[in-house]
Amino acid sequence: MTLLNCWEMKNCGRESGGAKTPESGECIASIQGLGHSCWAIAGTLCGDIVQGTIAQKEGNCLLCDVYKMYNRLHGSRGKEIAKKFPQEEAAYNALVLNRLRKN
Ligand code: SF4
Repeated sequence: MTLLNCWEMKNCGRESGGAKTPESGECIASIQGLGHSCWAIAGTLCGDIVQGTIAQKEGNCLLCDVYKMYNRLHGSRGKEIAKKFPQEEAAYNALVLNRLRKN
């Protein structure tokens, strides 16, 4: 089964070439190719609202299907991301490491 990106799962239209992108801009998750890791980056646009910092959006993300499917520890398909999307996995690991260093 295909590993859909967050924008495909949520049908947000905020990806590159998406329906809403011309009027209100492309989401950082799409810009940075983090469609299976969007909880790890600040400033995403879920629900057409700027989601703020990781800490601010964490509550929403933990309840989101994307997180439930792709989080690397307990996600139903999280373990497949590294093999299918090695570049995204490298970017994701760098974000997580950077956050750990800041804490
Ligand atoms: S993080 Fe949210 S707004 Fe951004 S592309 Fe993914 S689903 Fe769409």
